[in-house]
Amino acid sequence: MMEGFHSISSNDIQSYMEILCQPEWEGRRAGTPGYLAAAQFVVDSFTAWGLQPANHGLWYQTFDHEWTEIKDAGQLSIKFAFGKDSISKQYNFPSEFFPGSSSANGTISAPAIWVGFGITAPELNYDDYQKVDVKGKIVVVETEIPVNAKHPDFAVWAVHSSTVSKCKNAINHGAVGLIFVDKLANPSIPYHPNFIYCYLKKSMVNDLFVGTKFNRNDLIEHIKTTLQPQSFSLGKEITITAHTQHHLDGKCCNVVGLLEGSDSVLKNEIIILGAHLDGVGNAGAFFPGALDNASGSVDVMTIAQGLAQSKVDLKRSILFILLGAEETGLRGSTYYVTHPIFPPEKVVCMFNFDMVGNGKGLGLWGGTSFPEILKHFQEANEKYIHRPMQSWEYSDAGGRPRTDGMIFGRAGYTTLAATVTDRVKPVFYHDIGDTPDMVVPEIMEDICRWFYLALIGMANE
Ligand SMILES: [Zn+2]
Repeated sequence: MMEGFHSISSNDIQSYMEILCQPEWEGRRAGTPGYLAAAQFVVDSFTAWGLQPANHGLWYQTFDHEWTEIKDAGQLSIKFAFGKDSISKQYNFPSEFFPGSSSANGTISAPAIWVGFGITAPELNYDDYQKVDVKGKIVVVETEIPVNAKHPDFAVWAVHSSTVSKCKNAINHGAVGLIFVDKLANPSIPYHPNFIYCYLKKSMVNDLFVGTKFNRNDLIEHIKTTLQPQSFSLGKEITITAHTQHHLDGKCCNVVGLLEGSDSVLKNEIIILGAHLDGVGNAGAFFPGALDNASGSVDVMTIAQGLAQSKVDLKRSILFILLGAEETGLRGSTYYVTHPIFPPEKVVCMFNFDMVGNGKGLGLWGGTSFPEILKHFQEANEKYIHRPMQSWEYSDAGGRPRTDGMIFGRAGYTTLAATVTDRVKPVFYHDIGDTPDMVVPEIMEDICRWFYLALIGMANE
């Protein structure tokens, strides 16, 4: 048993990280050939280590997945008028703006209207579009919602929080384009052939308010305290150019590998480990997606390798899933729970791994709610790992699900998540800077060793 434990090495982890983050795979966006190449790498590794294809003899659960290719970052400019004169300011990628990950191709120029949070919610008696006509215009939209998690109607508001619903709402109101106040590569927004959008970094966004009598922060505060929309015309023309090509024929997949249990009865009970293999892909440049989520993928692969190659006895079975299309709307996990390979009532629990590779301490989210699972992790840490360890209750914050784990949780699976506490490096979330040197192979080694031991305990109890 300890041989397998010691075989788990940060050197292997580092090399798998670099393979998954290679520029040729372009950040593993769902639907792309780069993603499928990464999936094939996982299959080849699982095969070499002696796992079994889990989907009735197949390694894959495949589903259709259209995608938008971004040819280059495109352009964003704002025209400022001074009496009869005007100047046009051009913004730089990636420091000042990001292109939309699923934007239509082409150029639009139109007057800009700030529409606050961009929400139309009759059930909350709230509409950012109520007093403005955005037909043929470009709307400027804040991310998230005007209330926090303590608000009694938080769950109702949260339904409107996604950039997906904000784009839909803008299109429904006749807007031809949109700028999000943020800087985030995010391929979850569905492509619309007549809708061009992009992201403007927060530090640049005050440019839009120049010459108006309003201050952005005051307006946002005002909305938050009164829940009254403050939308208004910014009095400027914006031009967005996007160079994209939409592909309807893409495919995506989950990779499913099994270590079958040795006990004729207990082997029908399944422990699931999952991590999303896809990333945000190319959003004007190559986004490696190292912490998010090559790290979780490599954790799951490395645990599989350790258990498979040590040939340690496992009475229960363990299913390793590399999930596709998390970044495009949790589609791989949704596909699994609607097409389960094993009877859900036979699944002991699901552990999700997302961004598990930067920090000093071990975390098991959900562990406090499931003490019979948690004890194996406590024991493994106390005996062999000796890291600070934390655990939390399982909870569902309401609103839209934001992780693959929540998809499993809402489908009725006992769900936990591996996490790392006490960050030691900066996090470049959905950013070009999310490179392999931003993860910490040593904590990943310990996470994998921790799971290796705890899973042996769980599988044999
Ligand atoms: Zn992620």
